[in-house]
Amino acid sequence: MANVADTKLYDILGVPPGASDNDLKKAYRKLAKEYHPDKNPNAGDKFKEISFAYEVLSNPEKRELYDRYGEQGLREGSGGSGGMDDIFSHIFGGGLFSFMGSQSRSRNGRRRGEDMMHPLKVSLEDLYNGKTTKLQLSKNVLCSSCNGQGGKSGAVQKCSACRGRGVRIMIRQLAPGMVQQMQSVCSDCNGEGEVINEKDRCKKCEGKKVIKEVKILEVHVDKGMKHGQRITFTGEADQAPGVEPGDIVLLLQEKENEVFQRDGNDLHMTHKIGLVEALCGFQFTFKHLDGRQIVVKYPPGKVIEPGCVRVVRGEGMPQYRNPFEKGDLYVKFDVQFPENNWISPEKLSELEDLLPARPEVPTVIGDTEEVDLQEFDTTRGSGGGQRREAYNDSSDEESTHHGPGVQCAHQ
Ligand SMILES: [Zn+2]
Ligand SMILES: [Zn+2]
Repeated sequence: MANVADTKLYDILGVPPGASDNDLKKAYRKLAKEYHPDKNPNAGDKFKEISFAYEVLSNPEKRELYDRYGEQGLREGSGGSGGMDDIFSHIFGGGLFSFMGSQSRSRNGRRRGEDMMHPLKVSLEDLYNGKTTKLQLSKNVLCSSCNGQGGKSGAVQKCSACRGRGVRIMIRQLAPGMVQQMQSVCSDCNGEGEVINEKDRCKKCEGKKVIKEVKILEVHVDKGMKHGQRITFTGEADQAPGVEPGDIVLLLQEKENEVFQRDGNDLHMTHKIGLVEALCGFQFTFKHLDGRQIVVKYPPGKVIEPGCVRVVRGEGMPQYRNPFEKGDLYVKFDVQFPENNWISPEKLSELEDLLPARPEVPTVIGDTEEVDLQEFDTTRGSGGGQRREAYNDSSDEESTHHGPGVQCAHQ
């Protein structure tokens, strides 16, 4: 059996073991930016963890030690240098065997359970106005009937096979001065470290010490919160005996809005107007995210060019924790031109008299050739037959690559 490989430091950076130096650096930079205490004061020790993981994995010697011997290799390899212990305990937990699980140890020395992450979909209206919502979830709580003991007091015995450790260790000497340490989950207690006598087992939880309970959380979505923002309920995750419960973390997922697109605190929308409005001024009304009817006026004499953008200051999203300050609203104009032959030739020449004069046609000397300007199907692109042929070729290839099963079914 090979040495237990530990991937915790890779997990912290979100890269697979064996990731290239470049990938490590990229992952580190991105996370360090996100969790820097200046930017994210609520992230706790996350920044320290990220820095530590990168410090180890970016150093070839330390990385090799860690890859081969896990946490233990680092502890020994580091020579117990000062200041390392804190972050060690934080990431790996205190005991020799804690690195087998993914739990870390809290400040008071108890093991800490896993955080539970849930996505929470919210509309742009909710993020604009703020919202309180109730979320129902099912979680483990300590069994009240046995106080999380699993049975009558005294019924729970330390497993004798593993002396309560849940794992059995064997040390084999390979050569003088060279030992191999092997460990396996204890089969007598299934890694629990203790056994419960069948007849003394708690009826309510069947010796599991915990039972499922439905919990309702009241979630406050504050004005101006953003996609990807976390709302944390400290200590509300699954309970387990002797373990400090982790947090429930809600990850906000902003739903798409039909009218507005969000960019930070700014909002963007597109509005269609006719040619007459583009040239002669207009007014239009839209319903904002808080239900207000907003009237937008643009005076005669000012011109809107097709595709141009104008801004309404202060009508964007409220700022998080400063909701009276708002971003801006950008309106992009889609100018609808009239259809062909929408007006009689006589009227057209009247119109021409009103419009700005056309530039003079320069006189051309020598031979000229007159050509037609035609309409074409814009969806077919301008590349002509060749491009489409190339596309067909590659799509044929794709289907043979990906769908042999489908093709067989047709035959
Ligand atoms: Zn019980
Ligand atoms: Zn055991």
